[in-house]
Amino acid sequence: MTDAALAASLARLDGQLFIDGSFRPGVGIRLPVENPATGETIGRIAAAAPQEIDDTVAAARRGFRLWSRELPRTRANALHRLGDLIAADADGMARIMTAEQGKPVNEARGEILKLAEACHFYAEEATRVHGEIVPNDQPGFQSLVVREAIGVVAAITPWNYPAELVGWKLCASLAAGCAIIIKPAEITPFTALAIADKCAQAGIPAGVVNVLTGKGSQVGQALVEHSGVDKIAFTGSSAVGLHIQQTCPQVKRMTLQLGGNCPMIVTASADIAAAVKGAARRSFRNCGQICIAINRIYVARPIYEEFLAALGKAADALTVGNGLTDPAADLGAMASAEPLAKTRDHLADALARGARLIAGGAAPQGEGYVGGHFFRPTVVADCTHEMLVMTEETFGPLVGVAPFDTLEQAIERANDTPYGLASYVYARDLTEIQVLSQGLDYGNVAINNVDAGIMNAPYGGRKQSGVGYEHGREGLLEYFNFKHVRLHHGVGN
Ligand code: NAD
Repeated sequence: MTDAALAASLARLDGQLFIDGSFRPGVGIRLPVENPATGETIGRIAAAAPQEIDDTVAAARRGFRLWSRELPRTRANALHRLGDLIAADADGMARIMTAEQGKPVNEARGEILKLAEACHFYAEEATRVHGEIVPNDQPGFQSLVVREAIGVVAAITPWNYPAELVGWKLCASLAAGCAIIIKPAEITPFTALAIADKCAQAGIPAGVVNVLTGKGSQVGQALVEHSGVDKIAFTGSSAVGLHIQQTCPQVKRMTLQLGGNCPMIVTASADIAAAVKGAARRSFRNCGQICIAINRIYVARPIYEEFLAALGKAADALTVGNGLTDPAADLGAMASAEPLAKTRDHLADALARGARLIAGGAAPQGEGYVGGHFFRPTVVADCTHEMLVMTEETFGPLVGVAPFDTLEQAIERANDTPYGLASYVYARDLTEIQVLSQGLDYGNVAINNVDAGIMNAPYGGRKQSGVGYEHGREGLLEYFNFKHVRLHHGVGN
């Protein structure tokens, strides 16, 4: 896609809402969307007005009645078509994402292709949702447990994975027979609108998929409070997740995928080179703006200095660039000024409390970085739990490292957090692996790899990292209610 084609795509989506099967210009005020690599305004979103929100919920309720009665095979075919359309336009959609989010185009394309995969995965799952027959204590009775789609889902999503985090909710909703209203993050709305465009092209009926843009505190909150919305599927910060739970005025199903503060433990038996490679990838990919990013690393004391030197070298070798003009850069711009400021704060706090700077520590220098939210991948050592970097989610390209002496100590420090999303272990000793995988109080534990989430296994956090699951069969079942049908047919044994 050329620059002109990208500009045309953004212009087509500018100020649009996707309601009841078609785009319409929003009536509300316009909010600017910027390219975080340059600071240029690339378009505007319309803040959905109360009447538009009501219209959308009404359209979604009509869509739900129709879609939930379709055969699972019909829904599966639509999801397969959607996956094919998304994959066919991966480059165009990736450039839209890079323009608003900052991640390099190659990485954005990978995310779009994973969204296409999610469509195909859930298409296949759609036809395999079956119930149970439960034995009864009395003759002449039979209990059927059937699954019925929940209804209208409001999907409220953050900006770090603008396609996948919309996609998991969208695909599961479509497979289950729900209708969905997507409220994307204010700063990355155009990827969601581009996905809605593909839904229309895939022939998904009017009202089944809708996109409303605007501020979370207004449009998101209005959806949370709307009596016509049956389920909230939220991904975002723990603070907003808790606020949603506390302010929802009706009883409603909720999936809350929230923040993390993810530890990595590297024991003396680990393959150090593999651990360093994993640490560099999962600390700095997407500039560390990942809920499952490694925030803090605990390394066995005998290999501590060797690990630090190698991680510093790996961080220094990563390239930082404008994601549109340098599609193969390792890191693009950070998505906005906010996570960059938090990264700088956490770094300053760590250094003031005695941490040792191993790599990075500043924005890259040069003309190409002026006006953008760039920062070098940064490693600090000798960290303690008095430092913010070890206890709060930085959501930036900064990782803290500390030594440990016993496995028990490593587990205790790793679990010393209100979060419980993902944790990482590098070890080759089987006993160590078993002790760590049992001892880590996290929804996901990745051992000798750093890809904690895969499409066909449940993905979710514990403690303040959330409730409910996405991915896999468990992720799909979050979009169903159970119904128990107890039948007296009267036929005795
Ligand atoms: P955020 O909580 O600020 O915003 C998320 C979404 O909620 C946005 O669409 C926002 O507009 C909306 N929102 C804000 N206030 C709202 C309200 N009162 N009612 C309804 N909606 C509201 O999060 P963010 O800064 O966009 O994203 C970063 C956070 O997301 C990090 O904490 C990260 O860990 C988390 N995250 C978690 C996962 C996961 O799977 N657990 C995945 C990605 C990101």
